[in-house]
Amino acid sequence: MTDAQANAATSDVLAGLDAWRSLPIKQQPSWDDLDEVRAVTAELSKLPPLVFAGEVDMLKTRLARAARGDAFLLQGGDCAETFDGATADKIRNRVKTILQMAVVLTYGASMPVVKMGRMAGQFAKPRSSDSETRGDITLPAYRGDIVNGYDFTPESRRANPQRMVQGYHTSASTLNLIRAFTQGGFADLREVHSWNKGFAENPANKRYEKLAGEIDKAIKFMAAAGANFDELTRVEFFASHEGLLMDYERPLTRIDSRTGLAYDTSTHFVWIGERTRELDGAHVDFFSRIQNPIGVKLGPSTTPDDMLRLIDKLDPNREPGRLTFITRMGAGKIRDALPPLLEAAQSSDALPLWITDPMHGNGMTTPNGFKTRRFDDVVDEVKGFFEAHRAVGTFPGGLHVELTGDDVTECLGGAEMIDENTLATRYESLCDPRLNHKQSLELAFLVAEELAAR
Ligand code: PEP
Ligand code: MN
Repeated sequence: MTDAQANAATSDVLAGLDAWRSLPIKQQPSWDDLDEVRAVTAELSKLPPLVFAGEVDMLKTRLARAARGDAFLLQGGDCAETFDGATADKIRNRVKTILQMAVVLTYGASMPVVKMGRMAGQFAKPRSSDSETRGDITLPAYRGDIVNGYDFTPESRRANPQRMVQGYHTSASTLNLIRAFTQGGFADLREVHSWNKGFAENPANKRYEKLAGEIDKAIKFMAAAGANFDELTRVEFFASHEGLLMDYERPLTRIDSRTGLAYDTSTHFVWIGERTRELDGAHVDFFSRIQNPIGVKLGPSTTPDDMLRLIDKLDPNREPGRLTFITRMGAGKIRDALPPLLEAAQSSDALPLWITDPMHGNGMTTPNGFKTRRFDDVVDEVKGFFEAHRAVGTFPGGLHVELTGDDVTECLGGAEMIDENTLATRYESLCDPRLNHKQSLELAFLVAEELAAR
């Protein structure tokens, strides 16, 4: 390609990145000062990328492995991260929880696990209503810290573009700490025991401690036999969030100087939510034009035809690792809703990665007003996911969960048997209820068993 041809190709890519602006779009804030939005997006477009395109490509090769059935994806973190919640303790506990779950899965199923946080940028939320009413006051709905504040006052609920700059910086500091933990020795497999420290004693952590002992023994044996474990010091850990807020994602999308192609450098992996995945809408158009691996949430109303058309639009070149379907059907529906989709994909020439989100189809509100989920329903949906894949002969390639490393009481059940009256003790989520540390580990043991029994 001549320089002139390369320049022309780049300007085509750039023009395409703004095509979404003339398409129907959902779930965006109603900004009241468009000049301010323009000033902020100009500022964001000059800030350094948060991730490097080469890392994004590397993740794609890892996801391609999972799509082929040779690895498993573990993706977890808050429903909505908050600016205040970006503390060292909370970030460390979440990373530890994901590392522990990954060890349980790796060891239990003898399978490499791709580790990914819903972290370092999971700040924008789709809402079922644009407004919220309390008593006789109606205000704009909370759309996540990157848009407005949770406090129920007109000032706080105003969509404030400056929050996008704060979102960028909070993502940067979170990612920096994650990188420090995962590159600096904290995530070394020889530290398996230390990740369990600081969590109150309970059956899941006891079971984990036993497994960590077995791993320790295996490592010591191999080391004595001459193996070099220095490679274990560094662990790959990827970031992801829902690609929702277009005035944030667009300015962070950059042309890679190596290839002239567009990468969303706000994170490694972005997914399109259940509410914004319409085929001719802005989100599908925009994310079809970037190189990152992308996910699409699929709810129970998805038809095989919807799914096949999403494949054609988002993965026209059938690129390994490019497309992940995150199914969130609900425990009562997955056994009917998933198999037709798996069959249709299997008869096509595409090989998407299938992962289960057993959280979002299982929401409920208790009589005392808490938004919650039953741990048993989560488990049941995971089982239904494995059953469906077993029946069709496709690979159940991953787990997507809302979790925290803290001892919150947001989901019902689990070994601690959290009940409706206990929910109030420590309910901290501003959005959806998360599995706490123990429930997360318990789920990992269950998934490891399912995976090993496949
Ligand atoms: C989410 O992942 O927090 C979410 C809103 O999910 P969904 O798009 O599946 O409803
Ligand atoms: Mn959620």
